[in-house]
Amino acid sequence: MVSRVIPVDRFDLVIFGGTGDLARRKILPGLFRRFMAGQMPEGSRIIGAARSELDDQAYRDMAREALEEFIDKDRRPKECVDAFIEQIHYVAIDATGTGGWSELAQTMSSDTVRAFYFSVAPSLFGALAERLHEHNIADSQSRIVVEKPFGRDLETARTLNRTLAQHFDETQIYRIDHYLGKETVQNLMAVRFGNVLFEPLWNSQYVDHIQITVAETVGVGGRGAYYDKSGAMRDMVQNHLMQLLCLIAMEPPSRFDPDAVRDEKLKVIRALEPVAPHDIVRGQYDAFNGAPSYREDVEDPQSLTESFIAMKLHVSNWRWAGTPFYLRTGKKLRARTSEIAVVFKDAPHSIFGQAEKAHRNILTIRLQPNEGMTLGVTIKEPGPGGMRLIDVPLDMSFADALGPEAGEVPDAYERLIMDVIRGNQTLFMRGDEVEAAWAWTDPIIEGWEARGDAPKPYEPGTSGPEDAQILIHREGRRWREIKE
Ligand code: NAP
Repeated sequence: MVSRVIPVDRFDLVIFGGTGDLARRKILPGLFRRFMAGQMPEGSRIIGAARSELDDQAYRDMAREALEEFIDKDRRPKECVDAFIEQIHYVAIDATGTGGWSELAQTMSSDTVRAFYFSVAPSLFGALAERLHEHNIADSQSRIVVEKPFGRDLETARTLNRTLAQHFDETQIYRIDHYLGKETVQNLMAVRFGNVLFEPLWNSQYVDHIQITVAETVGVGGRGAYYDKSGAMRDMVQNHLMQLLCLIAMEPPSRFDPDAVRDEKLKVIRALEPVAPHDIVRGQYDAFNGAPSYREDVEDPQSLTESFIAMKLHVSNWRWAGTPFYLRTGKKLRARTSEIAVVFKDAPHSIFGQAEKAHRNILTIRLQPNEGMTLGVTIKEPGPGGMRLIDVPLDMSFADALGPEAGEVPDAYERLIMDVIRGNQTLFMRGDEVEAAWAWTDPIIEGWEARGDAPKPYEPGTSGPEDAQILIHREGRRWREIKE
């Protein structure tokens, strides 16, 4: 199967923070892959911008090194890298200073799509937005891309939204959540709304519960200082898991258009009930086999920040009344895996007798590893000996179903950057969505702080603290195994 490449207009993409980790690891390699796919029309340019005093050549050298580090050798023929690098430029700019802005203004081409990627700390967003306007670099057609974290609570998110709104219209602001750029996440919408099969069953009458798991094997690593101020709730639940929940729970939008989709997602967030303390378990990884504990990693022996969280949520509307959503995410767990499991109810009556009652259909959507979907169906165990039932997977790994080309699907960042150039906001968070997510998150975090709740320790390499098992066992359900 050959994937279709849709042409885009010529563009100038300015990466503020062009020398940073995100630019090197994701943005530049992603752009190179799009260049290879023929999606960087002639005359398009990438302009790195940061305080470091580099010239074009030094920045190009840095970009070349980034490609060498993050793209397999056989996927970057030298002549292609050379041609890509020719399209890269650099301007030294301090977001809060005056130098470099006139030079950037002169560097920009006319008659191109102008996009500005704010790959810097959120505290610099306001200064960047202001200067882009002051120097007439951005116009009413320009787009800005902003990275998470988008605020750390409702108040800071509102302030950020207000700051950006002083200079840019909402239709120009692209708030990235890279989970939304993942192919399987988009497939979730295709499966739900492109097939007649699932939608009639997609409600509390047929769905017993839904589990969303995002498990990592790594600890906080070098990000300890940053992570300790945020924790799993702010770093993962408020954005990534919330977005997955929205796509699973939302009503069908009338069409696949940015505001129609985002309106429906917003309704889900607004329908979330407050979560009772006994429906949340927080954890913190322990020291293990000589590896440091969370508290040692973040260098705070008193830290009360969670590196694991599990919770039970209710979406309070007609479709989902009575169907709980279980969310779980954490660091240093047994395996690196992200999946959504829709667990359907038992058949209302078993014609095969009581012994064969305990079979359930489960639709599993795997985001990583091995993106794909599995539908567990119940069949007869082959052979003589009566009607004994077993569950088998109807397995659809994208790599198998779509052939070798499936391995070539764009990664989340490159897909999302191209959406920015095309001006399609469907897979980006709108300001009111972000605020609604914080409005739901804030009271939970404030509750922990007011009570001085301490996270439960857990052993690395496990599924998290024992209490997370109890959270779901007490209702006769069980977590799916965390495995690759
Ligand atoms: P980083 O490695 O610390 O890079 C920060 C960049 O900002 C550097 O290029 C730095 O270059 C530039 N910078 C700092 N102060 C500046 C100023 N006053 N004016 C202009 N440029 C300035 O950070 P990062 O990991 O790339 O992350 C960038 C943003 O993306 C952050 O908001 C982060 O939270 C977010 N994010 C990162 C990741 C990731 O995987 N790295 C993932 C999700 C979100 P100079 O020092 O040369 O100025």
